[in-house]
Amino acid sequence: MAKLGRELRAQGHDVIDLSLGEPDFDVPDHIKEAAKKAVDENWSHYTPVPGYVDVREAVCHKLKRDNGLEYACENIVVSTGAKQSLANVILALVDQGDEVIIPTPYWVTYAALVQLAQGKVVEIKTDLACGYKITPEQLEAAITPKTKAFMFSSPCNPSGAVYAKEELEGLAEVFRKHPSVVVISDEIYEYIIYGEKPVSIAALEGMKDRTVIVNGLSKGFAMTGWRIGYIAGPAALAKACEKIQGQMTSGTNSVAQRATITALTAPLDASVAMVEQFTARRARMVELLRGIAGMELAEPDGAFYAFPRVDAFFGKKAADGSVIANADDLCMYLLNTAHVSTVTGSAFGNPECIRLSFANSMPNIEKGLTRIKEALEKLN
Ligand code: PLP
Repeated sequence: MAKLGRELRAQGHDVIDLSLGEPDFDVPDHIKEAAKKAVDENWSHYTPVPGYVDVREAVCHKLKRDNGLEYACENIVVSTGAKQSLANVILALVDQGDEVIIPTPYWVTYAALVQLAQGKVVEIKTDLACGYKITPEQLEAAITPKTKAFMFSSPCNPSGAVYAKEELEGLAEVFRKHPSVVVISDEIYEYIIYGEKPVSIAALEGMKDRTVIVNGLSKGFAMTGWRIGYIAGPAALAKACEKIQGQMTSGTNSVAQRATITALTAPLDASVAMVEQFTARRARMVELLRGIAGMELAEPDGAFYAFPRVDAFFGKKAADGSVIANADDLCMYLLNTAHVSTVTGSAFGNPECIRLSFANSMPNIEKGLTRIKEALEKLN
């Protein structure tokens, strides 16, 4: 989609990108200043594989401040983005044939990493009716003697679903019956929420020692290009992640690590201001999508995506006679006809949906949604 969007742009078309997976904001000034200072102070050498000690201490500080969780440096590994954190964890845990349970829709990388480790992805399907969240019964039914891990994100990319504390408690009750299953809790969208502050499943009784929290600076601080992610988990698993990372990439970027201390210990005003803008855009996007006959959606409680069902359009014909058979076709149609890029739900395991990002300006969101509406009204 990105490539086709660029091609259309090169041909002179005004393409609106609603496929973006990153905040469209600048890095907060105080974090930039910390990075500049680190350059001037010559933080330029190889870094310790799991991260500088004071960076890991800053991660511990953040986990205590935001999540009420006590960790020590031996539990923390800082990596080149949360993606590398997840890769380390999966490569450390999963052997050939091991099963990893992933609720759908899921971020595409989850399944790819499990496949890379020659594990087996076990999907638990969710849908609009259940708010894209799994139940304890579904979880219990999916666990087998081969289950190695359960991996999920809350807030979820792409659905925006956020598990409430009571819902996590229901899942934790099932996990307590299966102590060997490791829970991988991806909390990268933690700050981007529109309701109650989410709770980490690691904070529930008996869960901390068998949960790996994955988080990072990409989304909450608009720092996608700085590539800082981290895990907090059992010391033995952190050690294994460190070993893998030591042979793959070594410790992550020195300057970005120094700035991480500032990001994780300073007040969160800039993140709060960013979320205020996302809140207004979310309301507008939901309103505009609800104004399109055939679109059905749940309001996202977190992250910056809307994930409407679009299967009402499957089987319809475009002006050139081509048939929209699925979400992939619909995204291509929207790109070619409305010049708006979106992401097909099949990338996330839910082929009846598409994902639209509101990490774009209000005028672009309004223009994009108006064009989408017009293009969809031309189908018959
Ligand atoms: N987890 C989820 C759910 C994501 O959506 C993303 C990025 O899109 C990541 C992790 C990766 O983040 P990072 O930029 O830290 O690698």
